Amino acid sequence: MIEGNLMKSIPRSAVVTGAARGIGAAIALRLARDGFAVGVVDLDADQCAATVASIEAVGGKVAVAGADVSRSEEVAAAVEQIADQLGGPTVLVNNAGITRDNLLFKMSEDEWDSVLGVHLRGSFLMARAAQRYMVEAGWGRIINISSTSALGSRGQVNYSAAKAGLQGFTKSLSAELGRFGITANAIAPGFVVTDMTRASAEKVGLSFDEQVEKALVKIPIGRPGRPEDVANVVSFFAGEDSAFVSGQVLYVAGGPRG
Ligand code: NAP
Repeated sequence: MIEGNLMKSIPRSAVVTGAARGIGAAIALRLARDGFAVGVVDLDADQCAATVASIEAVGGKVAVAGADVSRSEEVAAAVEQIADQLGGPTVLVNNAGITRDNLLFKMSEDEWDSVLGVHLRGSFLMARAAQRYMVEAGWGRIINISSTSALGSRGQVNYSAAKAGLQGFTKSLSAELGRFGITANAIAPGFVVTDMTRASAEKVGLSFDEQVEKALVKIPIGRPGRPEDVANVVSFFAGEDSAFVSGQVLYVAGGPRG
C-alpha cells in the first residue's frame, strides 16, 4: 500500500531505445498502456511515426528523439529532450540492436565493433545519461534486452559477446544502483518474429517459414515468440511488483534456457 502511494508520486516516464519497430515498438506501447509517458528513441525520428500513432491511439503521452545510441552526444541530447518533454525518465529499456552475422574467420572488425557499439556501448551511454533522474527520484528501473544468443550462437561471436556482456552489465548495475531504489534486470528472448529475424533468414538463404520451422524444434511451447511476449515481461520489471527482483536474467524463449 505504502509502495503503491509512493509509486504515484514518482515521475512515470520511460525511455525505450530502438522503438521504431519490432520488440521496441511493442514495449513502448505496453508501457504507455501501463500509464507511462514514453520517450521513443531510434536512429531516425521519422521512422517512429507508427509507434507514436499506436501510443496516441491508446491516449498515451509520447516524445520522440532521433539518436544513435552508440554516440554519447546524441544520447545525452535525446535523454535531455525527453526529460524536458515528459519529466526525467525513471524507466529505461535498452532495446536498440543490430546483427552483423558472420563466421569468425570472415568477420570484419567493423562487424565486431558496430554490434558491440550499439548493444554494449549504447546501453552504457543510455544508462549513464538516465541514472541521474532515477537517483533523484529514489526509484528506477533499467531493463536490458539480451538474447538466448548469449549462450553461444554459430556465426554470431559479436552478437553473442554483446548479449552476454549485457548480462554482466545488468548484474553490476544492480549491485551499484540498488541503494538508490533502482533495479536492473535483463530479458533474454529466444526467436521472436520481427524484421531482425526476417533479415537473418534471408542472410542464410532460408525462407522465413523455413527459418521459423527450424526455430520451432527448440521451442517446447510450439510457436515463435511475439514482440508482446517480451513487452509483457518488461511491464513486470518496470512496475512495483518486481521491486525486490534485481540483477536477474529472464529467458523469454518458450522453453528452458540459461
Ligand atoms: P529490429 O526489428 O531490427 O528493431 C531494432 C530497432 O533498433 C530498429 O528500429 C533499429 O533502427 C534500431 N536501432 C538499430 N541501431 C540503433 C542505434 N545505433 N541507435 C538507435 N536505434 C537503433 O529488431 P528486434 O527484433 O525488434 O530486436 C530488438 C532487440 O531485441 C534487439 O536488441 C535484439 O538484439 C533483441 N532480440 C531480438 C530477438 C528476435 O528474435 N527478434 C531475439 C533476442 C533478442 P533501424 O531500423 O533504423 O536500423
